[in-house]
Amino acid sequence: MPTAIAERCFCYTFSMLADYAVRVEQSRGRRYPELQHPYRDDFQRDRDRVIHSRAFRRLEAKTQVFTRRYSDHFRNRLTHTIEVAQIARTISAQLGLNVDLVEALALVHDVGHPPFGHAGEKALDIAMRAHGFFFDHNLHALRIVEDFELRYAAFRGLNLTFEVREGIIKHSHDYPADKFPELAGYLLDLRPPLEAQLIDVADEIAYSSADLDDGFESRLLTLEQIRNGTPVFQRFYSEVESLYPDAIDKLQFNETLKRMLNRWVGDLIENTKERIRRAAVSSLNDVRSCPARLVTLSTAVEQERREVKDFLYKNLYFSATLDPEKNDAERVVSELFKFWMAKPEYLPSNYQEKATQEPLPRVVCDYIAGMTDNYIYEQYEKYCG
Ligand code: MG
Repeated sequence: MPTAIAERCFCYTFSMLADYAVRVEQSRGRRYPELQHPYRDDFQRDRDRVIHSRAFRRLEAKTQVFTRRYSDHFRNRLTHTIEVAQIARTISAQLGLNVDLVEALALVHDVGHPPFGHAGEKALDIAMRAHGFFFDHNLHALRIVEDFELRYAAFRGLNLTFEVREGIIKHSHDYPADKFPELAGYLLDLRPPLEAQLIDVADEIAYSSADLDDGFESRLLTLEQIRNGTPVFQRFYSEVESLYPDAIDKLQFNETLKRMLNRWVGDLIENTKERIRRAAVSSLNDVRSCPARLVTLSTAVEQERREVKDFLYKNLYFSATLDPEKNDAERVVSELFKFWMAKPEYLPSNYQEKATQEPLPRVVCDYIAGMTDNYIYEQYEKYCG
């Protein structure tokens, strides 16, 4: 009976896929071959493996933009990730892409982020550069799924399919083949599939709208400031005000954000369809050999998104109010890094063992990058407080 159900589900998914989508039966497979599961295909299994990983669970206690100091309602990296997955699934279905692959990629896209959001990332990168290395969250995410997650007796890591590993590396960034020989297997001279291209734009759409929301809720951004600073928001706000003149500010705000989000998502779907049509793309190979990425917003909407992003950088991410918190985060990361570099005997024993095979800065960096905001503070109190 389960086989019959599996076949029916499979046929349904298959028939919805566009010619240019990634087909699970044509996957380049896993590093360590495994038997097929009776009723989940490989991308569905990858999605589930990501959800069951420790790195995924730790996203709950990692800062996105705001720490919990401001409110319990704000996005953290886990809720941001779920929002990206929800937006990406919607778009993916409309474009006839492989929704299971898209979901796996969305859920895994931020697992490589260290504690404290971008402040933590910057501090870790600076600490690494002092030793001739660097920190990159996409490369770190690959190390997590390839090596650090220990769940299976037969291999280290999650043994994800090629397409998920490729998407982790390539969704937001092109890595030049000559500078990253270790990534040579990931077709660096070719574009990633549309499923991976989509994650980058869905991520941008998700955080731009969410950060306006959290910025307003935290009162770090005023309604006036947002209306004056972002023309797209202002336009929809005026519309909402005349439709719901008696609604309270926050509800007018929500209605405005909903319209903005719908406009961007709708535009991304239509513009991408049009680009696919114009490029005469009709297979995954066409997508890969296309000179440019195809999942993009139209010029006009891209301009709107940029205005919102610039506004957020200027008024929120780089606001003086968040400075003390960011400085604190950078200090905690850099002092702990220095501490373990000077005293590696205080690292957990499995990391000490790793340091016999890999450079110490890399091992210290891996250890810190995996921590939640809470855990790194505990460590700081213990060793540097
Ligand atoms: Mg993200």
